[in-house]
Amino acid sequence: MPGDEPLLAARQRIAWHAVLIVASAPSIVLSGSLLVGPVSRWWSPWAGVVVAVIWVGSGPIVLYRSRRAERRYASSSAAVGAATMPVATARVRTAWKYVALGAGVPRSTCTIRVVEGKTFSASHFSDRHIEISRHTVNVLTARQLEAIVAHEFGHHLQRSAVLRELLTWYRRLFDTMGIMAYRPSVRLVRALNATSRPGEEALLFVGGIVAWLGAGSAILVGLWLLLGPWAVLLALAGIPWQGVLVQRRAWWCEFHADRVAVDLGYARYLREALTIAETECVGTGDFVPAWLQSHPGNERRFAAMDSAQRRWTAPGS
Ligand SMILES: [Zn+2]
Repeated sequence: MPGDEPLLAARQRIAWHAVLIVASAPSIVLSGSLLVGPVSRWWSPWAGVVVAVIWVGSGPIVLYRSRRAERRYASSSAAVGAATMPVATARVRTAWKYVALGAGVPRSTCTIRVVEGKTFSASHFSDRHIEISRHTVNVLTARQLEAIVAHEFGHHLQRSAVLRELLTWYRRLFDTMGIMAYRPSVRLVRALNATSRPGEEALLFVGGIVAWLGAGSAILVGLWLLLGPWAVLLALAGIPWQGVLVQRRAWWCEFHADRVAVDLGYARYLREALTIAETECVGTGDFVPAWLQSHPGNERRFAAMDSAQRRWTAPGS
């Protein structure tokens, strides 16, 4: 029921935060060890302590700076959006007015703005603002737009953006190594998509696998030499799970945000809007569209919305 939504969101929030912290742990431990381990072994233990303190302290500073930059960007682009897209801005503000009214929260809970954009997109940011592309506003009806705004408001109730940013910072060093291993193979597979000669494709595919395995083993050997065999074991056992957990959690967040929109009475309009989004997204011709890399497919989302609605109407009906 809409009335118990904040409580429900708070309870799920703790579980999501725990999943995020557990999922990030292997990368954080390896990042910290890569910074502190060699310094304390080859220089002095005290230098290691100093590096550790600087590293831990850097998180809040980076977070503060990025939020300040985000706020500044948000207020300037909100002004630009309101000046250059007055009709679209008025439409999203009206949509948010109704969603806030339905949810029983003051309108100041979130700020909403339109940004230039030729693709379907809507996002929620850590400093409580919602951003919707002009294209999205143009292709949706008033009710569908409210449904999308209600979904983004659902993300606001989860309030996980700050924790996610902080953990991303502490994971960065090791994750960057992983990306470096992954990138050459992606480049080669992209090149493969661009060519048409079968022999060439096979060669590039094999090249991609060799590049990936080569860079991956170089990282593992580097970890062994710098930190010892435990680091290799942690990387082999923990890292594959990390990706799976992070993706699962992202899906739960989407299901929950959909649930908020359903509870506010937008089930039908959210389905319509998501169908438009997926149709456009598939039309781009990408192998896996960017949107579906982080979001569950519509079939899964609709099934989750159905079961939420069944629970909602179950007693006595
Ligand atoms: Zn979402």
